[in-house]
Amino acid sequence: MSLTLRGPALVDDTVLPDVLVHLDGERIAAVAPVAPGVEPPPAAHAAERVEWVAGTMLPAYVDLHCHGGGGTAFTDLREDAAVAAAEHHHRAGSTSLLASLVTMSPSDLERGVAMLAELADDGLVDGIHLEGPWLAEARCGAHDPTLLRDPSLAEVERLIALGRGHIRQVTLAPERDHGLDLVRWLTSAGIHAAVGHTTATYAQVEQAVAAGADLATHLFNGMDPWHHRKPGAVAALMRSAARGAVTVELIADGAHLSDDTVRTVLDLVGVDHVAFVSDAMAAAGVGDGSYVLGGLSVVVDHGIARLARDPDGTTPGSIAGGTSHVADIVARAVASGVPMAYAVRPATRTPARALGLADRGSLAAGSRADLVVVDGDARPTRVMRRGRWLEPLLP
Ligand SMILES: [Zn+2]
Repeated sequence: MSLTLRGPALVDDTVLPDVLVHLDGERIAAVAPVAPGVEPPPAAHAAERVEWVAGTMLPAYVDLHCHGGGGTAFTDLREDAAVAAAEHHHRAGSTSLLASLVTMSPSDLERGVAMLAELADDGLVDGIHLEGPWLAEARCGAHDPTLLRDPSLAEVERLIALGRGHIRQVTLAPERDHGLDLVRWLTSAGIHAAVGHTTATYAQVEQAVAAGADLATHLFNGMDPWHHRKPGAVAALMRSAARGAVTVELIADGAHLSDDTVRTVLDLVGVDHVAFVSDAMAAAGVGDGSYVLGGLSVVVDHGIARLARDPDGTTPGSIAGGTSHVADIVARAVASGVPMAYAVRPATRTPARALGLADRGSLAAGSRADLVVVDGDARPTRVMRRGRWLEPLLP
């Protein structure tokens, strides 16, 4: 049955007060603004049903970096847990997402990739993101440092084969032995190489970008800070992003980065090369408590996830992933004064383009019928995925 939604909507970076969004099954058939005071003509796409929407329709969110939520995680390596985590994020507004694994033993990683490839076959996730195991010990964050390793072509080829085309992104430290080879192996297989959890120098990052790396995993987190005489990865990635070669992820949740840092990067890099990511772990949408991430104990206190203990014994340890959804991050950006259209693009069109998902990230004819309806504070009130309203998340 065809359906037309009618109400305010974000179209081409402007919130218009009255828009018809004609749906045809899982797709948007047409988007037609209605001029004030003019009744729309019986449209070519005459719908069987018109539904008035209370709130503003936005394209639904695309999360490039997500480990779990709603109490379970992709890193649990259980299919039921992975399905529940994906559906949790869909209901929170991220109707497209990559399932992110963390550093694991070779056999666990293979098991995780094979399991998540099935979920991708079923359309529940849009691909797999391997965060590690080819990362820097000194910037390992919540990754088990004893399992970090140098890349070998044999292991990479085995994982790519098990992923059956669904591995879309790999986070790596290019300064490791064979780090630049890894960038080339991945990009020649059509996989996005992301610089992250790294001690790379400015020059090493430039080499990685020249070799094909086009993403930065949670800029600032998991890399040396920008020192003016030793600029390092942050400066090299920001410059590459400003020149259009790289898209930088930001975990703009107020815990990983200050709002002022987020606004600075948005203005210097531009919204076409910044992607808001959740980096969410199981606690997203659940709350404080004890969790396990990639075999390590994590404690969530006041919404901030930290390792119970760092490898050197420090307690509490490093920040261990996010507890927000992308929708929370967009709402936070709007609350901090970023205009709605400007806050939405890093959560929609930019990550969709970075992944090559041509039918996501904007309300336009031919796009998948994935949208969120938000209130005046940019909080989602309803979420539609593939033309179907999802059950709302209970507050
Ligand atoms: Zn992560």
